[in-house]
Amino acid sequence: MRGPLLALAGGVGGAKLALGLCHVLLPEELVMVVNTGDDEEFYGLHVSPDLDTVMYTLAGLANPETGWGVRDDTFNALEMMGHYEPSPWFKLGDRDMATHIRRTQLLGRGKTLSQVTHLLCSSLGIKHNVVPMSDHRVRTIVETDEGKLPFQEYFVRRRCEPRVVGLGFDGLDKARPSPEFDAALGQATAILFCPSNPFLSIAPILALPGVRERIAGFPGTRVAVSPIVGGQALRGPAAKILEELGYQVSALGAAGVYRGLCDIWVLDEADRSLAEGVSALGMRPAVTRTVMATDEDKVALARYLCDLVSL
Ligand code: GDP
Ligand code: CA
Repeated sequence: MRGPLLALAGGVGGAKLALGLCHVLLPEELVMVVNTGDDEEFYGLHVSPDLDTVMYTLAGLANPETGWGVRDDTFNALEMMGHYEPSPWFKLGDRDMATHIRRTQLLGRGKTLSQVTHLLCSSLGIKHNVVPMSDHRVRTIVETDEGKLPFQEYFVRRRCEPRVVGLGFDGLDKARPSPEFDAALGQATAILFCPSNPFLSIAPILALPGVRERIAGFPGTRVAVSPIVGGQALRGPAAKILEELGYQVSALGAAGVYRGLCDIWVLDEADRSLAEGVSALGMRPAVTRTVMATDEDKVALARYLCDLVSL
């Protein structure tokens, strides 16, 4: 049997493509590995923002306006929390909170984050494999002109305003890729970098011991969808961070981050003129519509990518 597609993802961009991939591939044909460098504890609860975005999206529960949380959620618990702790800056909805309570409860009983994620996903009717990048605690630290900030402090509390000068990942020394991620690195037919933030979502996955080396030496096809379209990020700080770290702010600049790790770089039609530059980086350019506004867009892009890697 041919191995599955190993897809690497952060939150919203990866979740949209995951939805398309789940329409095109059978559960055994896909391993969706999700960043957990954004994970944080709030009120004693283990919150995994990117895993939740992927899970809620696949379960049809996602809030398309915010990119986080559950659709039509209410915020009564948080409002009550405001009496105990003034102005809570990390928003957790009532329904969303049930997920974090359950996750924390199961982790407390000794289950791994992989096992917990599997239980939560199957309870919400998801049949495809969604797995955390690691069962160990890894936390993204954003190094800024104002000093080191834990990821959520940078992203939510400071709204990505400080200038990024580097990134660090706390806990790497003790961390390993999760068992299903590890197995997929050995068995996958192809690797897909979803259109996620290269620094905040994909870099933590690549930073896990052995992962960058194994992807660099991967024998199958490695394909990436550019997270930059027409010189901009569709949402989030990807373009801002490219600029701050000295990369060109374009789909070509983003391609440079994946040099040596990727065979095919998928450009949006808006960036067709960059194809030659992609070849010069040693990657094969491919051009298609990559902006996933509707479910049809998500399925069409997933189908295109599966054809590219002959899955
Ligand atoms: P998170 O939700 O904050 O974890 O962010 P992601 O890791 O998903 O990264 C957001 C990146 O995905 C940004 O660079 C966006 O431009 C990109 N992105 C989001 N949606 C799409 C899309 O439909 N198509 C493409 N090509 N990129 C997207
Ligand atoms: Ca994220």
